[in-house]
Amino acid sequence: MPSSPPPPDSSTYFRKGFGLKAEIQEELAAYEGALVDRMKASDYTLSAGDVTIRLAREFGFCYGVERAVEYAYQTRRKFPDRRIVLVGEIIHNPYVNARLRDMGIEILDRAERVAFDFSSIRPEDVVILPAFGVTIEDFERLRGLGCILVDTTCGSVLNVWKRVESYARDGFTALIHGKYYHEETRATASQVRKHGEGHYLIVRDMSEARVVCDFIEGKADASAISSRFAPHAVSPGFEPSAHLRKIGVANQTTMLARESLAIGQEIGAAIARSRGETARTAEFRTFDTICSATQERQDAVIELLSEPLDAMIVIGGYNSSNTISLAALCAERVPTYHVESAAAIDPERKSIHYRRAGIKHVEAETSDWLPSSGTVRVGLTAGASTPNNKIGEAIVRILATRGLDPD
Ligand code: SF4
Repeated sequence: MPSSPPPPDSSTYFRKGFGLKAEIQEELAAYEGALVDRMKASDYTLSAGDVTIRLAREFGFCYGVERAVEYAYQTRRKFPDRRIVLVGEIIHNPYVNARLRDMGIEILDRAERVAFDFSSIRPEDVVILPAFGVTIEDFERLRGLGCILVDTTCGSVLNVWKRVESYARDGFTALIHGKYYHEETRATASQVRKHGEGHYLIVRDMSEARVVCDFIEGKADASAISSRFAPHAVSPGFEPSAHLRKIGVANQTTMLARESLAIGQEIGAAIARSRGETARTAEFRTFDTICSATQERQDAVIELLSEPLDAMIVIGGYNSSNTISLAALCAERVPTYHVESAAAIDPERKSIHYRRAGIKHVEAETSDWLPSSGTVRVGLTAGASTPNNKIGEAIVRILATRGLDPD
């Protein structure tokens, strides 16, 4: 088994910022929101006329996103004359990414299932790795180019990597609850190769986990696994009969916590049913790797949903996994509108443009979302990559739809 690669060169690799926090405070203040602060001080409530808006008690920017954005700003300060390139979006928020572009930071794009093209990167460039992290292969390719690397990978993502790495080291296949195309899951899955030839399989949800359970219990053959997961969601050389015996479960940090837990239990139960309790003890591991910020936001929205609400607004990028999880939770209980930004709410036309929860890539528009008269209670939350100023703008537009303002 090959040994771990040598640690990165400390003169070209930075993951603790540049000590410029004070210098960029003023720029970062643009992400704060006075209206949100006011709501927090009023029991997370704002009332105007017949409209009451209730904000979840945990929402918006998480510690990992705050840190990543701060490091990007510090990087610009530290290297004012250098070309700075971000490997994909730093976080999934269109507004934040647009601001970084305005600062002259280039964002490398990548189509689904295609590797990043690093051919334009020169040794004198500065490259920022996003909060989701990058794959081992991309990290090594960048390191080989000799450029300066500023690594903003979130500590909670690093914890998942350690878990997956340990599964692979001990001969367990990592079964990852996540989205195979998501940057974080791609990076996490790649960790199985840190010490050699480990394997992974990525399941999107419980229905995909059940396909794996059926194979474990002999109710489906290897072709059912291949047709559902290969090649996009399994490691190269994946052989179901060899690689679905010893299984360790982990998850993308931003999935629905409840579903991740259930998937782990189902896989363990399938092993026990097919090979006995001894096999479940010896050949199955599971560990909840949902990050605490995701968990807190999901718990807070569940608490908010226990109140009577007429509608829920969930703000965040359409490609933001944690926002999608929040919208899915809300849609179980109340009409839910996942919007990318305040601009989706049009007070003039009284309409809202939104993504339907639970249906990939389906957007819709309606002018029938907020009753034109009478009392109404609107719940509000935002994904971990949505800054408070953007939440405040949405609040203003919700009220304006009823001809009201917050003051
Ligand atoms: S959502 Fe969780 S894992 Fe992702 S950046 Fe935020 S704290 Fe880190």
